Amino acid sequence: MSTHPLFIDNIAFAKKNERLTGSLTLANCPRLSELAQANSSKNPAEVVIDYVLEGKTDSVGQHLLYLSLTTNLTTTCQRCLSPMPLKLKLNYNYMIADIDADDVEDSDDVDLQEPSQTMDLIALIEDEIIMAMPIAPIHEEDCGEIVTQSGEKPNPFAALKGLIKP
Ligand SMILES: [Zn+2]
Repeated sequence: MSTHPLFIDNIAFAKKNERLTGSLTLANCPRLSELAQANSSKNPAEVVIDYVLEGKTDSVGQHLLYLSLTTNLTTTCQRCLSPMPLKLKLNYNYMIADIDADDVEDSDDVDLQEPSQTMDLIALIEDEIIMAMPIAPIHEEDCGEIVTQSGEKPNPFAALKGLIKP
């Protein structure tokens, strides 16, 4: 489990209908680790991300990738500011195509992935989970007392005010 990084020749992978399963830990994903672990006492190396990557070539010769991710992270509830478990089960479909090609359309169901002999799977997994993290997670049940932020913390929107020109 320490043989990372993981680079995939994505066209070849799709052509051969390959399937790859494995697991990473947050120790492999420093950016995500920073985001997800700020309020957790768990060792990043013990937080596992399971993945399955499958390649397919469809009847019209388009190369496709399917990625499934499962992980249990800890985030911070934005209401009571205490740790909050976050279970993620994510699925992605990608079409491998040149992003600036005219005949491909990015749709809601399919994301584009540039053809690459060294597609960085760990970076892709990390990016997808970062984008799937809720911006303002709140406990659905058993939320603690509301914590009012002290006035010492700058309002994050205050900085924006100066940027908005009338
Ligand atoms: Zn809460």
